[in-house]
Amino acid sequence: MSVESLTSCLEARLSTALHWLKRLVDLNSFTANPLGVDRVVEVTAEMFEELGFKAERVASEHAGYGHHLFLTRPGTSSGRPVVLVTHSDTVFPPEEEARNDFRWMEAPAEGRIYGPGTVDIKGGTVLIWMVLHALREIAPDEFERTNWLVAANASEEVIAADFAQRTKDRCPAGARAALVFEGGPRLDGGWQIVTARKGRAEFRITARGRGAHAGSSHAEGVNAVVALAHITPSVAAITDYGRDLTVNVATIRGGTVLNRVPHEAELALEVRAFEPALLTHSEAIMRRLIAENAGPAVLSLDRLGFTSAWPADERTMGLFRHWEAAAHDLGLRTVPIRRGGLSDANYLADLGPTLDGLGPSGANAHCSEHSPAEGKVPEFVEPDSFVPKAAMNVLAVLHLLGTGQDAPPPCTGSSPAHTAPS
Ligand SMILES: [Zn+2]
Repeated sequence: MSVESLTSCLEARLSTALHWLKRLVDLNSFTANPLGVDRVVEVTAEMFEELGFKAERVASEHAGYGHHLFLTRPGTSSGRPVVLVTHSDTVFPPEEEARNDFRWMEAPAEGRIYGPGTVDIKGGTVLIWMVLHALREIAPDEFERTNWLVAANASEEVIAADFAQRTKDRCPAGARAALVFEGGPRLDGGWQIVTARKGRAEFRITARGRGAHAGSSHAEGVNAVVALAHITPSVAAITDYGRDLTVNVATIRGGTVLNRVPHEAELALEVRAFEPALLTHSEAIMRRLIAENAGPAVLSLDRLGFTSAWPADERTMGLFRHWEAAAHDLGLRTVPIRRGGLSDANYLADLGPTLDGLGPSGANAHCSEHSPAEGKVPEFVEPDSFVPKAAMNVLAVLHLLGTGQDAPPPCTGSSPAHTAPS
């Protein structure tokens, strides 16, 4: 197979892919709009049906969210599945889309398509479809042999862990690879592939003092606000940019009225780090600070939530090398990057070697406002990134499946059961 035939195979499919993308983007699928999320699930199931994928809808643990979608295509060999990960939800409530007139808008002069979820992550869903189509055409034996699982989270934007568990239930022996199709920007000629994400621990620190009349019995009070304020700078100072460790004191509140010594105050904070040990270490420092500051006010620390880090380990970097080789074959360059934000990769990394950022290039995810004067431009995807990124993913998956050196039959640029979305 030549690079040219792969590219023309993908180019032949691009306009259909963008029709599918428009259908997905036209449906509001805010996480808390389960009917909208389920409509996206229906369109996604329809998209992959012609590729022989069977759809299974699984209710979210949270009753207010839509259905997770698992699309399976069992292979003729009994190997571990290749898991391709996307999500059906977005962060935009329908009212916000209407208020900001944020919808599908093609801007060919800018090389962009604006719209909710264009890059996060509906463009990624469409890219998975392009990749599988091309694999079926250029490497039909490998396509038939492989166990494929396309998994779409109903509530990724609120990082619900139940999706990861349902995915793992469907891969009892683990995955050959977990490939997450969040957007992957191309900067300075390099295509960014995500090889690590920070973990996050969430905490609350509570100070309990003693309420008293601020005018008549001030000395009998124990001021919880002052006690909490005293410890706050030391907690924030755990931040160590040199080690990519951050503490964000996010909210702080305390007291009730002016004439009362406040009896209670609390702050909420999150800690992020790539190194799992640094998250544990930070908690230990906070516990020590609290013990050292034991005074008349009682301080306590509660851990509210925890998301494991996905460190750039050897397995990940081994997988990345397939993408590096694929990019090289295409005359492109790919760069491994680490991100501070969470994704499904944090939850799926123990399933098998994992990569993220495999979707198309775009930017401004989570932004719906259009006000260039204020520097606000809404989310967009770059349609000219679909073919090169899909080509890179196709070649890399073939490298991964061990057929990178084979010469598959030439691509015809069409498929027998080609369904154009309406
Ligand atoms: Zn997002």
